[in-house]
Amino acid sequence: MLASKIWANSADSHFVEPADLFANALPASLADRMPKSEKFDGYEILTVDGKQFKRNMPKPNAGMVSMGEAVNARAPGANNPQLRLKDLDNEGIWAELTFPSIGIWASSIDDPVLVNAGVMALNDWAHEYIAGASPRLLPTASLSMLSIEDAVSEVERTAALGFRAVFMPTGTPDSVKQYHYDDWEPLWAAIEAANMVLSFHIGTEPVSADKQTGVAFRGPGGAVLNHSVNTFGGQTCVMQMVASGALDRHPSLKVLVAEGGATWGPFVGDRMNEAYRQHGAYVRRQLSKLPKQFIYEQVYASFQHDESAVAAMQHMGWQNVVWGSDYPHLEGTFGHTQKTLHELFDDVPDYVRKRVTVGAFNELFPGLGEPPADENPPEET
Ligand code: MN
Repeated sequence: MLASKIWANSADSHFVEPADLFANALPASLADRMPKSEKFDGYEILTVDGKQFKRNMPKPNAGMVSMGEAVNARAPGANNPQLRLKDLDNEGIWAELTFPSIGIWASSIDDPVLVNAGVMALNDWAHEYIAGASPRLLPTASLSMLSIEDAVSEVERTAALGFRAVFMPTGTPDSVKQYHYDDWEPLWAAIEAANMVLSFHIGTEPVSADKQTGVAFRGPGGAVLNHSVNTFGGQTCVMQMVASGALDRHPSLKVLVAEGGATWGPFVGDRMNEAYRQHGAYVRRQLSKLPKQFIYEQVYASFQHDESAVAAMQHMGWQNVVWGSDYPHLEGTFGHTQKTLHELFDDVPDYVRKRVTVGAFNELFPGLGEPPADENPPEET
């Protein structure tokens, strides 16, 4: 039996932004065009830059007014850094990488000027309220997906503020080239030069505001289908970065896929190696190493509950398996973090537990310090 309390870093957590963030940060002419939600009995009207979308919602008597309010009711620290730190101490989480929660608007706005103003306001807020609250909280910088030039300058601006990671969606808007095209080269170069981690969070493919994010299937089994297929976008982003040679050209660039599990790393690497070898005659981007090696050296992946993820590190040689709590989301471990950590790590060697809970995260974000020592450390055997 391990120490009674296991400490871990989290490579996948979220803040819930205040509803008045844009009104407080932007001139009214821009703030008025940012997404707004008006709630009615059983539905909401979402207004995004003059376009209105009606979306069905659970009725308030179902105990939930909106997803955001449900999250806040469940975990009051979701948008209060001081309460959050108490939650983290209770749960045994030390440092966390935090992603935004407002996701819909970024892909529902067609105006690059408006999007850029929005991400700058969001990043300024995250810098002040998240990073400013504790060195344990690392916010990710959001970027415009409509202008690579704007994205590059926001990387440089947020790096100067102290951000250590960018958040990018697991897919590009229809009007923009996909990640395997060289159009993105200046952004990869800027992220690498800024020494920031390129973080893809799963389930963030752009959809218009009239579609619900994460709903690919309806009907029998829909909930399980939607959660399960939700993970594939992150793997595709990694395949694009490897196959196009982006990671080859930027050997210091580190990529994190958050929330998508981790056992896929070895499998996707095998699959890509097979393609590279067996279809060699058709391979148009020659690489200096086999694809799997880029995944093993430059790609990291976070999981929360997956029973097989630790084995990817212990038995398949992928050192970059990282744990994440997904606080405060429903898929996450809030309320049962210690139970989950014990189930994952009670029966594995110390070096494996330390690598997955702390070491791989600290390799991405060096200098954060170590979590408190485990309470009641196990006796030497
Ligand atoms: Mn997450």
